[in-house]
Amino acid sequence: MTMTELTGAEDVAWDLSDLYESGDDPRIEHHVREVEEAAAAFRERYYGRIAELSAAELVEAIDERERIDSIFTRAIYYAHLWFSTDMADSQRGALLARLTEKGAVIETQLLFFGLELADLDDAQADALLADTTLERWDHWLRSVRKFRPYILTEPEEKIMTEKSVSGVSAWDRLYDELLGALKVDLDGVEISFEEAMAKLHSGDRDERRRASEAVTIALEPGLRTRTFIFNTIVVDKSIDDRLRGYENWLSARNLRNDTTDEAVQALVDAAVSRYDVVQRYYRLKARLIGLDRLSFYDRMAPIGEDPTKSSWAEASQIVLDAYADFSSDVGDIVQRFFRESWIDAPVRENKRPGAFCATTVPGVHPYVFMNFTGERRSILTLAHELGHGLHGYLAQPLGLYNANTPLTTAETASVFGEALTFKRLLAIEDDPGRRLNLLAGRIEDSIATVFRQIAMNRFEDVVHTWRREEGELSMEKLEELWLATQTQMFDDSVDVDGYGSWWSYIPHFMGSPGYVYAYAYGFLFALSIFRKYELEGDAMVEPYLDVLRAGGSKRPEELAEIVGLDLADPGIWESGIDALAVELDEAEALAADIGLGS
Ligand SMILES: [Zn+2]
Repeated sequence: MTMTELTGAEDVAWDLSDLYESGDDPRIEHHVREVEEAAAAFRERYYGRIAELSAAELVEAIDERERIDSIFTRAIYYAHLWFSTDMADSQRGALLARLTEKGAVIETQLLFFGLELADLDDAQADALLADTTLERWDHWLRSVRKFRPYILTEPEEKIMTEKSVSGVSAWDRLYDELLGALKVDLDGVEISFEEAMAKLHSGDRDERRRASEAVTIALEPGLRTRTFIFNTIVVDKSIDDRLRGYENWLSARNLRNDTTDEAVQALVDAAVSRYDVVQRYYRLKARLIGLDRLSFYDRMAPIGEDPTKSSWAEASQIVLDAYADFSSDVGDIVQRFFRESWIDAPVRENKRPGAFCATTVPGVHPYVFMNFTGERRSILTLAHELGHGLHGYLAQPLGLYNANTPLTTAETASVFGEALTFKRLLAIEDDPGRRLNLLAGRIEDSIATVFRQIAMNRFEDVVHTWRREEGELSMEKLEELWLATQTQMFDDSVDVDGYGSWWSYIPHFMGSPGYVYAYAYGFLFALSIFRKYELEGDAMVEPYLDVLRAGGSKRPEELAEIVGLDLADPGIWESGIDALAVELDEAEALAADIGLGS
């Protein structure tokens, strides 16, 4: 075990007994059996009969389906949480594996329900939805049915699904395998791709430069193959979209994300129009680390040392104060996480790395998992996960299905809570150097989450469009388009010489086309609400909490309306970016004060 400094978090362990007493709790077996029996009965009763149900009968069916899911979710969450604090314990691993297998069997048995609902003809579905009995399930039912216009006939769908194993999925897997096998030769020593990329965080510029050159050389040999794979995946998608009748290359993704082409276009336009934020920051960063201009491999370089460490007690107080200042009710909820042992905080042997919040099931409460090290970053991580916790806590009364949020709004409360806590950290720090450090870390996170993702989305956009209109893309063409879309963001603030083939290591482009903008979407959605709160103060507290209370029972557009925002209006996305620009203004002013400004 590596020695870590004591933080005071050593004994902060969660108490999972609100789920089950222990891994041997007989209720786990009991629940699993109950779910198996209920699933079999559900299938027996409803299979092939969904189209015959009245609105009231359908409500009964959905309620039962949700009840079955809730019981099983409780058991599987327990297994996950129990396992994550000691992954070396074979009893824990065995429980998780067994429940995961059970889950797949039950899921397969109940799959027909969603399919038959999607299969209802529109007139019948409209009649059902018009019935107020079904009001609670309105959004859920629409979500289940939203792909209906793009579904092909059953035999066609069957061929598509079966052939994808040797088609697009095979290409994606080949890409993953090639990327996984990539080795980097750094000064005669063979290291993994991840290790080489980690060296871009080094404080030594020469080390960063050598690592980046070694990565470029390592990307070279398979580049022609990766180009071919990318072309194949892109053309496969264009065929799929054409057959199904999607408007453009991104429409299917937008539908899955529960948003619209218009809202996403507004987001992209707003971010692209504010690329100056990126350029200003990278020019400032060059000065801060003593360079005339950054190279692409300098972007992750540290800015000085920040040895500031906080104890668990200090960190929890900062986060709690930030939430309580926002609203005393919210403070009371967050306080419960600490008082009632809903958090597992310390770094421990055999514990899973990272941090997450498990919302669990209605009737219990969320749990927060982290590896607290006392660094500034881990205070913000605590705030982030408690934001998810607050969101889950407030949405739980809606029940499992309606509380569940899509990717685009899942980060609302976490980003908001991080912003609140960041403000507080900044307010209590008066050393200019450390303030600057805090701001720089915050701006770099934001650039990575917003602008970098949007620039990648612009690359995908031009690639997918080019393939549809002009045909296959050569290695040279992809390099040209990658550099053009990156340079559009950097202008001349970053030297991209040597960066041309780096598009080819980003797995999202292959495995989940169109995915990357969602990071920017969620982040700016939350920040624009935060910005409105900063401008309007307490009047925004209740509307914001109403957004959280609505969970995933409404579309993002409807959630935005609750706080008086319109997602199709570029202004909402711009206001999120304005919040970042304010932080950049302060960083520039501080740098000038301490003599690092131009
Ligand atoms: Zn999160």
